[in-house]
Amino acid sequence: MLAIILVTGICINIALWGFFGAYRAMAGRPFQSNIHQYLNYVIADLGSPPDYGKARQIADQTSLQIHYQGPEASWSTAPKSRDLHKIRLRAWPNQPHVRSGMFHGRFYFEYRHADGNYLFELSGEYHKNPALRRVHGLIFITIALILLGAYGLIRRILRPVRLLDSGVKAVGRGDLQYRVAVTKSDELGQLTRAFNDMIGRLRTMLAAKEQLLRDVSHELRSPLTRMKVALEFVEAGQTKELLQADIHEIEELISQILDAARIHHDHGRLNLQPTNLANLIQDVTAAYQNQSPGVVFRETRSDRTFKLDPERIKIVFKNLIDNAVKYSNKDSAPVEISIGLRKNWVDVTIADNGIGIEPGALIHIWEPFYRADKSRTRETGGYGLGLSLCKTIVEAHGGTIDISSTPGKGTTVLISLPGNT
Ligand code: ADP
Repeated sequence: MLAIILVTGICINIALWGFFGAYRAMAGRPFQSNIHQYLNYVIADLGSPPDYGKARQIADQTSLQIHYQGPEASWSTAPKSRDLHKIRLRAWPNQPHVRSGMFHGRFYFEYRHADGNYLFELSGEYHKNPALRRVHGLIFITIALILLGAYGLIRRILRPVRLLDSGVKAVGRGDLQYRVAVTKSDELGQLTRAFNDMIGRLRTMLAAKEQLLRDVSHELRSPLTRMKVALEFVEAGQTKELLQADIHEIEELISQILDAARIHHDHGRLNLQPTNLANLIQDVTAAYQNQSPGVVFRETRSDRTFKLDPERIKIVFKNLIDNAVKYSNKDSAPVEISIGLRKNWVDVTIADNGIGIEPGALIHIWEPFYRADKSRTRETGGYGLGLSLCKTIVEAHGGTIDISSTPGKGTTVLISLPGNT
């Protein structure tokens, strides 16, 4: 928008410049015949061949300078030499031997005469005229003020669009609580209200979906318990073992769904306490030391504590390290974990050299129940809830979580948490 205003300003200046140029050219026309008459008198007065002394006298008494180029002599009354060859002279339509033009604020008239060439220089010095300079300055300031006012007005009118833009970005990040402030009652105000209503409906729909999932999971617990009890009376054998494994799997899924729902539901209520993050990660990694490809933890400052909910942060690192190990090959290089401090933030990266994630899958990775490679994850036993849970916990702490991955090379997860101690 600023660029449009600037271009408009430049265009107005060019238009004004052209207008004044044309005006000046036309304004001079009625005086042309008078000047012509006067200069002819001057030529006659100088004599033939022209007398320099006489020319000097005229130059001293008036603001007329005379440059003469003749077959025998050439002279000029001007105190300083001028770049006369740079002057663009235009022939007069009714006087072919006369040409005139302007250069550096001076008017020039060239007369091709039998005695030689005369170039008369009339120094109006009008460009140095303080009154004219004031007018120029005033025009410039007026245009600048008008443009500044227009810029402010357009910004004011477009304010709802900027607010909507922040709203769309916030909703894109998954913040469905965001409400765009309604500042106007015109079309843009209506659009803002419609946007807020849409987010409200989306929120209700998602909440209903989550509630349904919670209710179904909850309701499944009792029949599952009954099935487990009934199974105790079944004779031992392969069928019993298969049924027990299936029941265990369903139980596991239900407890993950209910855990996730609980954390989603009361994520505002974190049990924050000074936590030694390095020690916490060390504890989690210890369980994976004997599991190939292994985990290497690059610890920097183990004495530093941060205000975190240790139980929930432990769930985050357990899930992420579990994934990094699970989706690595047995002969991959070990998973690397490192901590770095950045101003008021603490960054933790977990980098594996495993199978990686396809770019098409990366955009869905935070959605609950999303699994990038369904056949493989059935084997590894995941339900696609881990990453969505990690995101909820990290964001509840005011932090961010990002994932980058190259298929066949590996995956890196970066967690940034506010470094409040
Ligand atoms: P799951 O329990 O299936 O592992 P997650 O939510 O933790 O669920 O992960 C979702 C999907 O993201 C996984 O099914 C897997 O396909 C992919 N994924 C997660 N972490 C990694 C990783 N480190 N390397 C490769 N794929 C991964």
